Amino acid sequence: MLKNARFLISNTDHKKCPPPTKPEFAFIGRSNVGKSSLINMLTNHKHLAKISGRPGKTQLINHFVINDRWYMVDLPGYGFAKVNKKLKADWDKMIRDYLTGRENLTAVFVLIDSRLPPQKIDLDFIQWCGQLEMPVALLFTKADKQSHSKTSENVHRFLDEMERLFVEAPEFFVTSAINHQGRDELIQFIEENVTEWYGAN
Ligand code: GDP
Repeated sequence: MLKNARFLISNTDHKKCPPPTKPEFAFIGRSNVGKSSLINMLTNHKHLAKISGRPGKTQLINHFVINDRWYMVDLPGYGFAKVNKKLKADWDKMIRDYLTGRENLTAVFVLIDSRLPPQKIDLDFIQWCGQLEMPVALLFTKADKQSHSKTSENVHRFLDEMERLFVEAPEFFVTSAINHQGRDELIQFIEENVTEWYGAN
């Protein structure tokens, strides 16, 4: 159960993130993938993710604390216009430093739009996570938008691509912020990892 969700802090420097004394779960994907909606759905909050969402402003790492037991992190999305090299370079550095510098990072949830066939931008990001040896899990979003068979086709095509990148296929969840598909499974996955983390730390 997610009884209590609280916004903590936003910053650009992973060194200023809260102390790594709780397991941490990060959410990332291209903009418009449904990240804010999913975070709000998970936490039963209407506007939690938007508290820190400032479109067009500085890209920030946003920390929330859930049940005083684990951190939920809303990371700035990827997918930049080719012209915006400076923004892309700043994002690359911030995300790389965050991913490699956060010792309590337990899972990186990469959000994928379930309406689309595998997109290069997502595959490139996941490949990069793989190279950094990050614990990736996939969240397919907006499953209510099309038939089960279409979702299933896109998910399987994506998982086929994962075989190229990973020895062991990443965990995946099919979700919808509208009908709450995948919510219980995702929370259970997080809770199991939280329990395991406290057992080991
Ligand atoms: P973000 O930019 O990744 O944070 O994406 P948002 O959460 O703001 O969602 C982008 C758009 O997709 C909005 O219009 C949402 O209402 C819509 N959306 C997000 N998740 C879902 C979903 O699960 N189902 C449907 N039908 N629409 C969604």
